[in-house]
Amino acid sequence: MSHVFPRHTKSQPPVAVGGEGCYLIDATGKRYFDGSGGAAVSCLGHGDPEIIAAVRAQAEKLAFAHTGFFTSEPAEALADLLIEHAPGDLDRVYFVSGGSEATEAAIKLARQYFIEIGQSRRRHLIARRQSYHGNTLGALSAGGNEWRRAQFAPLLVEVSHIAPCYEYAHRQEGESAFDYGQRVAQELEDEILRLGPDTVMAFMAEPVVGATAGAVPAVEGYFHRIREICDKYGVLLILDEVMCGMGRTGHLFACDHDGVAPDILCIAKGLGAGYQPIGAMLCSSRIYAAIEEGSGFFQHGHTYVGHPVAAAAGLAVVNALLNRNLIPRVREMGEKLDAALRARLGQHPNVGDIRGRGLFRGIELVEDRATRTPFDPARRLAARIKSEAFNRGLICYPMSGTRDGRIGDHVLLAPPFIMTEDQIPEVTDKLTDAIDAALRTI
Ligand code: PMP
Repeated sequence: MSHVFPRHTKSQPPVAVGGEGCYLIDATGKRYFDGSGGAAVSCLGHGDPEIIAAVRAQAEKLAFAHTGFFTSEPAEALADLLIEHAPGDLDRVYFVSGGSEATEAAIKLARQYFIEIGQSRRRHLIARRQSYHGNTLGALSAGGNEWRRAQFAPLLVEVSHIAPCYEYAHRQEGESAFDYGQRVAQELEDEILRLGPDTVMAFMAEPVVGATAGAVPAVEGYFHRIREICDKYGVLLILDEVMCGMGRTGHLFACDHDGVAPDILCIAKGLGAGYQPIGAMLCSSRIYAAIEEGSGFFQHGHTYVGHPVAAAAGLAVVNALLNRNLIPRVREMGEKLDAALRARLGQHPNVGDIRGRGLFRGIELVEDRATRTPFDPARRLAARIKSEAFNRGLICYPMSGTRDGRIGDHVLLAPPFIMTEDQIPEVTDKLTDAIDAALRTI
C-alpha cells in the first residue's frame, strides 16, 4: 500500500521511474509521450544533461543559503538574464518556488506598493472569470474557476471577476474580433468605476489562458486597451505567465506578442523545466523604488526564496532556451502541430475549436458544433479523454467544468520544445483515437 497522498484516492497512478527526451517511463517499462509537459512544465524534455550538470554543480558548490543572510551567484545571474530580456521597465526579480507563490507575492506586493506611496485605500483586486492563478488562498481567490473555488469560498478574499477574452465562446455574430476585445476590456473600466478608482490596486490576467480553458489567447487590441485602462486609473497590471511564459507561446514572455508590458509579471513552470521547483515575480522599477524609498522591506518571504540550486536550474534553462534557438523552433513546431491537429480533428463533429500559440495548443470539445454548446460537465468528457490517451501512451492535460461559466471540456497540449516533426503523428493519432474512444463511453 502506498502512503503517498494521491491526487485521486480511488485510483493508484503508475510509478514514474524514468524520463528520456519527450517520453516518461513507468515501472512496467511503458512509455508515454509527454504531450503536455506535465502541466506545461517540461519544456526541455526529460534527462537534459546540461541542466542536470548545472543542478549537480550548484548542489556541490552551495546547496542553500537563506536570503535573510545572503544572496547567491545563480540567483543574481538568473535575475540579470531575465531582466535583460523582460518587457517594459521590469527590473527586479523576486524568486519563489512555484506559480501560486508567484501570484501570492504579486498580490501582496501590489498592496504594499500602494501603502508605501500613501494610497492605502487601494485594496481591490480585479481578475477574470476564466482564469487560474494558483491553489493557495490568495491565488485561489484571484482565480475565477468555480469548481476549484466552490468548497473554499468562505475562506477566500474578495476579488471582482469580470469577463474573460474568450472569442470562441462569447463573440457575438456580426461583431469583429477587435470590437469584441474592446467590449470585454470595457468591463474592467466599468468595474473600476463601480468599486471607486481610488480603491482598486490591480488587475490580474493570463496573456494566454491555460488551466481553465486550453490555450485561449486574447484577441488583438485587448491587452492594449487593458493597459490603457489600468494607466488611466493608476491600477497595476499583473500578468500571470506561470503557464504560458518562458517560450511556450513562441516568445520568451507571452505578453511580447501583445506588445504590452505589465507592472508585475509572474513566471514558474517552464523556468525550472521540471528540473527544480522555481517561480519568479518580476516588478517594475517604479514599484521597487517605492519599497526602497519607503519601508525598505517587502513584508513577505518563504524559506526557499532564491534557492541556489533552483536558481542554477533556472539559469541553465533560460540559457538553453536562448542559446539553442528554441524559441523560433517553438513557433515553427507550433505551426506544424496546429496544422496536423486541424487536418485530423478540424472536421470532427465534436471538436469546436483548435487554438493557441507556439507549443501551447487547446482543443475544445462541444456537443453541438453549430451552437457551440458544451457537453454536460457531469459526463466528464475531458477526464475520459485524459485516461483514454494515457492508456495509449499519450499524456495530455484535460480541463472541464461548469456549463454556465462556460468552461466546457478541453484538452491542452504543451509538449517539450525539443519535439520533432516526426513525433507529431504519434500525438495527433493517439489524441484522435482517445477522443473517439471517450465519446463512445459517455
Ligand atoms: N498561474 C497559472 C496561470 C497556472 O497555470 C498555475 C498552475 N497551473 C498557477 C498559477 C499555479 O502554479 P503552481 O501549481 O506552480 O502553484
